[in-house]
Amino acid sequence: MAERIVDVLVPLAVDRPYSYKTSEALSPGEIVHVPLGNREETGVVWPGSGEAPATAKLKSIIAKSDYPRLPLELVKLIDWIADYTLAPRGMVLRMALRRSSELGAAREKIGVRVTGLKPPRMTEARARVLSLLENGLLRSKSEAAEEAGVSPGVIDGLIDQGALEAVALPPESIALPPDAGFAVPELNPAQTSAANELRDAVRARKFSVNLLDGVTGSGKTEVYFEAVAEILKQNRQALILLPEIALTTRFLDRFAERFGERPAEWHSAIAPRKRARTWEGIAKGEISVVAGARSALFLPFNDLALIVLDEEHDPAYKQEDGVHYHARDMAVVRGSLAQATVVLISATPSIETENNARRGRYKRLQLSERYSGTEVPQLEAIDLKKEGPRKGRWISPRLETAIGETITRGEQALLFLNRRGYAPLTLCRSCGFRMRCVNCDTWLVEHRYRKRLVCHHCGFDMPPPQHCPKCETPDSFVPIGPGVERLEEEVRAAFPDARTLVLSSDMAGGIERIRAELEAVTNRDVDIVIGTQLVAKGHHFPGLALVGIIDADLGLNYGDPRAAERTFQLLHQVVGRAGREKAGGRGLLQTYQPEHPVMKALLAGDRDAFYDSEIASREEAHLPPFGRMVAVIVSAKEGPSAESYARKLAASAPLSDDVRLLGPAEAPLSMIRGRHRWRLLVTSPRNFDLSHYVRQWLAAAPPARGSLRVQVDVDPQSFL
Ligand code: ADP
Ligand code: ZN
Repeated sequence: MAERIVDVLVPLAVDRPYSYKTSEALSPGEIVHVPLGNREETGVVWPGSGEAPATAKLKSIIAKSDYPRLPLELVKLIDWIADYTLAPRGMVLRMALRRSSELGAAREKIGVRVTGLKPPRMTEARARVLSLLENGLLRSKSEAAEEAGVSPGVIDGLIDQGALEAVALPPESIALPPDAGFAVPELNPAQTSAANELRDAVRARKFSVNLLDGVTGSGKTEVYFEAVAEILKQNRQALILLPEIALTTRFLDRFAERFGERPAEWHSAIAPRKRARTWEGIAKGEISVVAGARSALFLPFNDLALIVLDEEHDPAYKQEDGVHYHARDMAVVRGSLAQATVVLISATPSIETENNARRGRYKRLQLSERYSGTEVPQLEAIDLKKEGPRKGRWISPRLETAIGETITRGEQALLFLNRRGYAPLTLCRSCGFRMRCVNCDTWLVEHRYRKRLVCHHCGFDMPPPQHCPKCETPDSFVPIGPGVERLEEEVRAAFPDARTLVLSSDMAGGIERIRAELEAVTNRDVDIVIGTQLVAKGHHFPGLALVGIIDADLGLNYGDPRAAERTFQLLHQVVGRAGREKAGGRGLLQTYQPEHPVMKALLAGDRDAFYDSEIASREEAHLPPFGRMVAVIVSAKEGPSAESYARKLAASAPLSDDVRLLGPAEAPLSMIRGRHRWRLLVTSPRNFDLSHYVRQWLAAAPPARGSLRVQVDVDPQSFL
């Protein structure tokens, strides 16, 4: 066969595919090995390969790989995201291909068992292994070494000497097929009608976006499980995105209760070998349901028919490093490319989604009552100007009384404070000096349990100094304001017999510990929970009767256009944890601004009032979703070079009646990880292609040299 040219995109920071020669027939999406410089790279055949005859200069493809090809729909999604976010195409591909090592065929796991022969020389380590395996059962090599507390070399030695034999273990299965009919629930009338709508949408086999809008505890999960059941009956594939991996265990169990098996999982905590097998199982259509983090959007489903986004308003869906993309928006794009049914789930939809539902672009399915029939908790304000706590305390007398009553009844209370660590601010009592991060323009936060001062932006930490570095006074640092750890001290002092627990994402022990602690709360092994936003999300704590918001105003004080929305969603979610199974759930909201529109809407339980006013004010200010926004962040090792380049960029922006350019201004977080940061913000009307404008602008801009870096954030969620 004559040689022809084929374009191959490699998962590196390049925007265009490279051309290679090949004599094989290759179609877009196929995974190939190609020479690149003096290395070998794994890439993907990209559409639009030139018809031009192969020239001698081009290198040849090394080989076509055995991996299943990427579906064309995923190739198109990658192109779409690269065009929209301005991220280099190769970096978007990288999210679908991850490290090529993950594609490696799952390595065989080796098991060992005793043969009955004794090794010529017995050592203590060898004896431990042999007694562990005495029962004759097969055990994986690494497990045997770990359990016997010996190095793998000891096992190898025993194999060499014939005391153990090695046997290839069958691959552990990734996910057995879920069974649509395993435990079909009885739905209430509202659930039934929403489930029917979703089932019809799936059967229609065409693109649609549905908002499943239901109060907290209304049983939204049971409803979308019926759409999943329909997918299983059709033998097609479904993707369920969840905002937080800490939530997945409970979710996986719940899925298994309904379908008999857990779904496949996809997130960063999955081991490489399992990832490889999962990836392949999805590409081959052997795996039908995946539950995962936002990165699961880039999996090579070959027949994706349903995408569910649980808690669609959650900020965790926006990726803030590398490729800046919003998984909700990209799920809708993938859904349209795949002609799939998209279901967005929330009790407090994002303004974007609510607006789309109001305008009929998305279909709204509503569940307005809790499944258990209990009322959504009564909310009362505690006006901190009038009935605040005593000095040096954070819990007002009324809230303290309510906590006492709750735990006396044997129920649970949750205190919500979205501040990790002991205190947000620590300073020297005698000179006012504050400890600063060495890499960032931020103050260090004291974490008393860990006995460290920690930077919440780069993770830098250090032991608290014995004396003030400036005035040298010993033991002079005093905490100002509360974090969850400090709040716990107050709770323990007030309720010494209660079982208290702090739930925060940065406790030692990581995800496993958080999962165990969430379980403990569910099982009522805890009376008073003190938590950050980690506790707000989707948990079902049957014994929780009271929620106290320590500082309801906390999120309102940033100069962020989404501050009101975020605060409303977060507080609504937190309060929704209370009284889910038993009547009489209660929420107390400590605030200095009971008259603020967000607080008023929350207190009145008037969600629509909040959306009406927020949508109107966004529209008036041409803020998203009524206008487009792109942030451009310039950073460099030296402040002046970041600033002067940001000014040059601004000066080189093409004139356009549709575009407004704000800045450059020094970023509120003016230094992160040793890089000085300046921000520009461009805005335009909604119908203007702002990505295209920014691409052309940056392509013609003066080159960024040295340590300068330019980051583009389309539809920014963070303005720091
Ligand atoms: P939401 O996600 O809307 O906040 P959940 O889906 O967590 O609510 O449901 C709340 C509780 O009600 C859960 O314990 C769930 O198991 C239960 N539930 C909901 N619908 C049903 C049903 N049809 N049959 C039995 N239990 C249900
Ligand atoms: Zn830092």
